Amino acid sequence: MFVKVNSFVDGRSLAPADGQYVDKIDPRTGAKISEVANSGPKDVALAIESAASALQGWRDMRPAERGRILNEFGRIIRQSENTLGALEKADTGKPGSEMAALMDLTAQYFEFYGGIVNVMDGDVINQGPDYHIYTRRDPFGVIGVILPWNAPLHQAARAIAPALATGNTVVAKPSEHTSASLVELARIAVLAGVPAGVFNVIVGKGSVIGPAMAHNPHIRKISFTGGLRAGQELGHIAADRILPLTLELGGKSANIVFDDADLDAAAKGSTKAFTWNSGQWCAAGTRLLVQESIHDRFVDKLISEVGALRVGPEDDSTSGPITTHAQFEKIQSYFAIAEREGLKPAIGGKVATRAGYENGWYIEPTVYSGVTNDMTLAREEIFGPIVCVIPFKDEADALRIANDSEFGLGAGIWSRDIGRVHRVAAQLEAGRIVVNEYSGGFVQTPCGGFKQSGYGREQGIDALSHYTQLKSVIIRL
Ligand code: NAD
Repeated sequence: MFVKVNSFVDGRSLAPADGQYVDKIDPRTGAKISEVANSGPKDVALAIESAASALQGWRDMRPAERGRILNEFGRIIRQSENTLGALEKADTGKPGSEMAALMDLTAQYFEFYGGIVNVMDGDVINQGPDYHIYTRRDPFGVIGVILPWNAPLHQAARAIAPALATGNTVVAKPSEHTSASLVELARIAVLAGVPAGVFNVIVGKGSVIGPAMAHNPHIRKISFTGGLRAGQELGHIAADRILPLTLELGGKSANIVFDDADLDAAAKGSTKAFTWNSGQWCAAGTRLLVQESIHDRFVDKLISEVGALRVGPEDDSTSGPITTHAQFEKIQSYFAIAEREGLKPAIGGKVATRAGYENGWYIEPTVYSGVTNDMTLAREEIFGPIVCVIPFKDEADALRIANDSEFGLGAGIWSRDIGRVHRVAAQLEAGRIVVNEYSGGFVQTPCGGFKQSGYGREQGIDALSHYTQLKSVIIRL
């Protein structure tokens, strides 16, 4: 008998009405580990009704009390780190150090937003003695949160925490590949004092649940994190309903190394930029732009950093498996595309095999050098540990190449020239620029895309404005 992962609705576990489940496979071993609910429209409707019924009480609760509950939630997340982390590790295959960092961030979102529930309340607008005018920020109501599989709890927390802090209730849909940890998160929310129905999780396939959510009139906003295609499909439904969306989509981020950079630090950071989470990272630095004058020296350093990585199922591996089989196959298809376009890997370029784990889904971290920005590998998001090294001449050339992409999520700059850093950061078409390291930023720093990487913002104080709608009250005295 396998564990069954069910939805969590109105404070309790909910099995799918039609009894359908799908198998969940452990990416580290290729073995089945659980059965995941394949919920249908009836289950979605129940979850949304539950969130709608809980709305009034949660919205009208004194904000400081909501904040206290969210802080308590953060504390219980830290206390439950091992249980939550183990569920997510089994679903994703993440190594221990990555999982620990993501658990810390998950708790931080509830602590941060729990502490700033009142920060964005509204203003008084002076129109002389005959008027009292003010603005207030009202919650939308029931928010749908649709999530990908690459960092399930982290991405869930960054949308759910500000949504709850501002008085909305939530129906969250994890990826069908990584549902278990989010269901557990909803269960422990009740222990923290989050009232039943305020935070529901509906488990199942996006093609069924996404449209059922978007068409339901109780859903007043959707925060979607995932790929371009599903984001566009949601956008079509949203256009008909005038349904507000936050879209956090994919990327093909440029990571630019200038000749005045600390090359050792840049080689280390640029390796992490495309191999963290085995490259399954929306803001991964997968177009590595390197100034011609240092190109060969830098590529040697990069190859030696990449060669030192350890791919495997162990907790101390530097890279774990690819989380879904479809993604594992998709990444391999890019090796064939690279070959057809005349590229040879400088290192990697194949499936990584590990004795005892022959059925696991491992890919060798891969560097292609001599890539031009018009090649398929430089245009498309691969979402795996593959980097394209693209040479450039000078600052203007670097900017031209970096901005020549349909995406605009993240970017990196490596340089010790502070003037150049600010000039380039101002011109880059990307939502987040990181200088002299390549990281995911902080809970407190806004995250979101330019161009086809999406719109709206998660993280930071500004996210509060994306989970509320502004109302003016004009009083003639
Ligand atoms: P995906 O688009 O396949 O799935 C994301 C979610 O959408 C899943 O829960 C899925 O079930 C659901 N879904 C699928 N079809 C849908 C539809 N028609 N309507 C509504 N929902 C639907 O993405 P994925 O493969 O799970 O994740 C990888 C993608 O997510 C990459 O493109 C990555 O860049 C992106 N991502 C972006 C960010 C960011 O912050 N910008 C963060 C993480 C991942």
